[in-house]
Amino acid sequence: MSGRPEILFPLFADIKKLEGVGPKTAQNLEQIDVRKPRDLLFLLPYSCIDRAVRLSVSEAELPGVVTVQVLVGTHRPPRNRGGAYRISVQDTSTSFQVVFFHARGDYLKKILPEGSRRVVSGKAELFDGVAQMVHPEYVVAPDEADEIPEVEPVYPLTHGVTQKTMVKAVRSVLERTPDLAEWIDRSQMQQAKWPAWREAMEMVHFPQSVPEVSPNSPARERLAYDEFLAHQITLALARSQLQRAKGIVSEHTGVLQAKVRDALPFAPTNAQEKAIAAIAGDMVLPTRMNRLLQGDVGSGKTLVAIMALLGAVEAGGQGVMMAPTEILARQHLEGLQPLAESAGVVLEILSGRDKGKVRRAKLEALARGEIHILVGTHAVFQDDVNFADLRLAIIDEQHRFGVRQRLELGKKGEGADVLVMTATPIPRSLALAQYGDMDVSILDEKPPGRQPITTALVSTARMAEVVGHLRKAVAEGKQAYWVCPLVEESERVDYTAADARFKALRAELGEGVVGLVHGQMPPDEKDAAMAAFQAGQTQVLVATTVIEVGVNVPNATIMVIERAEVFGLAQLHQLRGRVGRGTEASTCLLMYQAPLNESGEKRLKVLRESEDGFVIAETDLQMRGAGDLIGTAQSGLPRFRVADVETQASLMAVAQSDARKLLHDDPTLQSARGKAARVLLWLMEQDQAIRLISVG
Ligand code: ADP
Ligand code: MG
Repeated sequence: MSGRPEILFPLFADIKKLEGVGPKTAQNLEQIDVRKPRDLLFLLPYSCIDRAVRLSVSEAELPGVVTVQVLVGTHRPPRNRGGAYRISVQDTSTSFQVVFFHARGDYLKKILPEGSRRVVSGKAELFDGVAQMVHPEYVVAPDEADEIPEVEPVYPLTHGVTQKTMVKAVRSVLERTPDLAEWIDRSQMQQAKWPAWREAMEMVHFPQSVPEVSPNSPARERLAYDEFLAHQITLALARSQLQRAKGIVSEHTGVLQAKVRDALPFAPTNAQEKAIAAIAGDMVLPTRMNRLLQGDVGSGKTLVAIMALLGAVEAGGQGVMMAPTEILARQHLEGLQPLAESAGVVLEILSGRDKGKVRRAKLEALARGEIHILVGTHAVFQDDVNFADLRLAIIDEQHRFGVRQRLELGKKGEGADVLVMTATPIPRSLALAQYGDMDVSILDEKPPGRQPITTALVSTARMAEVVGHLRKAVAEGKQAYWVCPLVEESERVDYTAADARFKALRAELGEGVVGLVHGQMPPDEKDAAMAAFQAGQTQVLVATTVIEVGVNVPNATIMVIERAEVFGLAQLHQLRGRVGRGTEASTCLLMYQAPLNESGEKRLKVLRESEDGFVIAETDLQMRGAGDLIGTAQSGLPRFRVADVETQASLMAVAQSDARKLLHDDPTLQSARGKAARVLLWLMEQDQAIRLISVG
């Protein structure tokens, strides 16, 4: 697959070759990401105007666009400069006025000569009981009436580009658009009654009837499916590349795992057991594992992780676990160290803080195989970090990891199995879009004995009351988090808010009771603050969202979140998940700045009513849309132009199984359908996929 197929050249040619597109328009189009003829094709009309000819304006709902044939009557030029130029016209049942401003009389007399018949089309409205049409978009002789499209597409516009320019340019692209061989499975096409690709493009750009513009029209649905299919083929290629890459057979003996099981004060849940078994099953295969472990906060992913890591060690190799932040890496170290010790396994941490001699010593021990399990931040994947025999790489809490990064990681540990853990419950549709290349284990069961969390909404006006309750709780030996919002995308403001709250609470509750942790603190101060809270020395921890993911202090039973309305739902759910981890009942106070707007209220109420991460994520998706939910740019989730991940989830599922089947039957895309699929990948600019095929 050395280069773009020739058949697509016209769609990737200079956009200025299109009719009506000069240098100026080309420049303007760039504002809406239209750079090539191809981009215009995928810029679909978002609605349409019905311009079917009617007998009379009196038939139409006004104000609205009407198209009627009229007999042109008298012209009444404006009495003063800038006034209205009025032309009376008569249709089959009523007379009305066609109105112009700043128009030259001789021009108007030419296009609308008195006594002639004309078809006019434009927006009409009632003015003092008389219909008037200001600046009709079309004025043509009756025998030219078919110049007026019955259904006119309405395109998203940008400065300096009119609907007419768009229509003309798109028409010109369609003239250059080739028929392409079908890449969709034939039975799928028949079952869904979809048109061929080019036909679909014509239908969406030149709809013949208003319903054709709906997202569920066969043509639009087909084009949406094309997007899903191209994306899923990319994921399937990534998947098969990882699988084809030789993996390492890591047979678990169970010896170390058994030791840890003995040391555990609890039994793993069924969901944990299932995930542990699935991972062991993957690791023993000669192909690489590429698995996602999805589990709500507190579902116990860490235990699954350590079991998998021990499996790698049992097989005589090493394992690495990467956490997104230093705090979490340290917490893993502390949580896992005792378990590792009980199994006689050497566990170390490597982070950006390790410098010079210390770092070098760790790297040498790692290269000699004397460190069995390494935890750390992204520092563990730096170039000079070499393992003696890396079998398993785990990425914790990295819901922002895209396909690209996963591929890069795959390259790093040659043949090492990969497990990605995420605490963000992802609606099924998004999971397919984002993790369609992976196998998935879900921890859908919480460890037993958890108390439900009582969630309440409290206005900031009741701050004094909240602090009063907190004082009582502190006197009873309880522990609380107090989260301050990121007021702006600025670390400074962030820090100032937290610092101010810290000082205020310290003044209220007493010196030494309150701790502070935020993103701008020097690392060792951060550690010290976390450690003091974990040890119960401080009882209230004022924090910014650095505590969002993963922090585990079971004795903490109160979570106060200030300005909860500015946080995302998923984030609030994560934060709340920091409490309710022990056997004591927990409370979460969502403080908001009154008045809450409607959507703000709805969002916070969802949290009050549900603790189920999936329910919350689905609501979040409905309220915000897919892009927002994960942050499209960081997520590796593509931006679909036609398709809607939210409402067309079932199509995504079809595309996934179809793409996997296609790659299974024709791994190098050589069959007729495979070749058509290559054209699709080029058309959809799936660079990653294209690169994968080129090497494969
Ligand atoms: P998360 O999935 O959010 O990473 P953790 O792995 O941090 O969850 O586990 C949360 C808490 O639940 C920890 O204190 C852990 O020791 C405890 N835990 C994990 N599994 C079980 C279990 N099967 N029974 C009881 N407690 C468990
Ligand atoms: Mg965790």
